Amino acid sequence: MVATRTFLFTAIVQLVLAVPSPATLTDRPSSFDSTTCELIQPIWYRSHPSLSTIRQRVTDSVKSLWPSSRSQTPENTRHATTFRADQLVLRFNITTDVDAQAISEAANTLFLDVWDQSEDRVDIRLANDDVSLLLGLLPSHLRNSHTALYTGDELARAIHRSYPSSTSIPFELSYRQRATTHSDRITRRPNSDVFFDEYRSLSVIVPWMRLLQSLFSSHVSILSIGSSYEGRDIPALRVGVHPTNNANPNGKRKTILITGGLHAREWVSTSTVNYVAYSLITSYGRRKSITRLLEEFDFVFVPTLNPDGYEYTWTTDRLFRKNRQPTSLRFCRGLDLDRTYPYMWDGNVTGSADNPCSEGYAGSEPLEAVETRAMIDWARNETLSNNVVFVGLLDLHSYSQQILFPYSYSCDVTPSNFEDLAEMASGLAKAIRTRDHENYRTLSACGTDVTLSTRRAGNAAGGSLLDWFYHEMHIHHAFQVKLRDKGSYGFLLPSSEIVPTGIEMTKAVEHFGRLLGQKYGAAGFDTDWEEDDVPVVRSQDRMFAKQNPLQ
Ligand SMILES: [Zn+2]
Repeated sequence: MVATRTFLFTAIVQLVLAVPSPATLTDRPSSFDSTTCELIQPIWYRSHPSLSTIRQRVTDSVKSLWPSSRSQTPENTRHATTFRADQLVLRFNITTDVDAQAISEAANTLFLDVWDQSEDRVDIRLANDDVSLLLGLLPSHLRNSHTALYTGDELARAIHRSYPSSTSIPFELSYRQRATTHSDRITRRPNSDVFFDEYRSLSVIVPWMRLLQSLFSSHVSILSIGSSYEGRDIPALRVGVHPTNNANPNGKRKTILITGGLHAREWVSTSTVNYVAYSLITSYGRRKSITRLLEEFDFVFVPTLNPDGYEYTWTTDRLFRKNRQPTSLRFCRGLDLDRTYPYMWDGNVTGSADNPCSEGYAGSEPLEAVETRAMIDWARNETLSNNVVFVGLLDLHSYSQQILFPYSYSCDVTPSNFEDLAEMASGLAKAIRTRDHENYRTLSACGTDVTLSTRRAGNAAGGSLLDWFYHEMHIHHAFQVKLRDKGSYGFLLPSSEIVPTGIEMTKAVEHFGRLLGQKYGAAGFDTDWEEDDVPVVRSQDRMFAKQNPLQ
């Protein structure tokens, strides 16, 4: 029965995705002028009328189930169409904390966009004109320690490539050349649903979630966490079954929260939340361990914690990070949602976090961000009025392949269950490594490497979602996971990595569920637990794709 519904679901999704909507017909960029760095937009293909009609009916039926229409209007599916080529991403190789501190201070002074920072490198996006300014602020030995992760032209092309498109042939060559140095993972794609062939906009994700609810109503429901600043719903899926428990009929529902998209440009976090949700949903009734897991726990999947920012990355600025709330400076909108939670909020005491133009702007006071208030209100209401007890949290981000645990705000404070957290983080990393040999490091979120006892300078940050849920909601097994990659592509991870990333995170989630089941579940929870390594998404999905002439 579940298999039939899975097949039907896949067929409908492929039908919806296969025929472009009227909006995407004219809005997709089709060619890239590297001289002007503008994308030219002719009408470059036309829909088949009969299939358009079918697609519209399916889409209308799906949309009619979703109460809010604001984020699903065709206009909002327009892609960003021009990309500046006067920006680049530099990687500075560092060897000491003093180096890290010097670069961090210089980047703060110039309000530059620090993509990632580890103990041996710092990636910074900046304008060509700012390169000399930055180098001038650095010690002499660091001035020649950088390489270009992306030149301006490469950055613009990578941004263009990240949007769904089937006509990026001119860019395929450089794409593959880069991939060969990256690993063979590009060629290791398993069978998958076409939904995960590309990154998806909100206008596709929300109807897709609705469709999941419609076809798997026995264990899937859609809900809204609350509203964003611009009035969009923050959609979520609740996945789980509630077998009658005669021994404890009023027992609280143990719930595992999995979130993504807090930072708008980290698209793989959104696609991975969706992938894990889909994998568990379609494995229910087919795999004993997953069925058991969904009887024991509810999972709540929130793929876009920051829907306004996510939408903005699709329409205007692919590399936007924050939410879209106005600040005291008219031209610098947005708060860094991972610094706006009220626990140990430090916006007024940490450098750039009190400047509205900073990528880490924390607002003028705790809880100023609308989306953060919505998340907190929802979580509190769930525990106070909806019989929920949260037992686990995975907050997905990118990039750098790390599993982080509390606290984020300080390395000087050790959580009471530090050993338990560190051990569980190692278990999640092992589950990933066993699956596909990808290494994820385990660290305290403030920057301390558990195994090496080294500490990265300048990474501690207050007001994080992770710390708030750990401390205020008492989720004692809470982690932030930074997904692929380790810096070859950074935030512009190719869509071919969606499925491999989704699979490895699914394995980590299954292991997470098993460990939580051992701690909170019924006796013998994981008896006969199967480490099933069959591809999570069925081959029949791909078979259907091959039969579809529009693929
Ligand atoms: Zn992030």
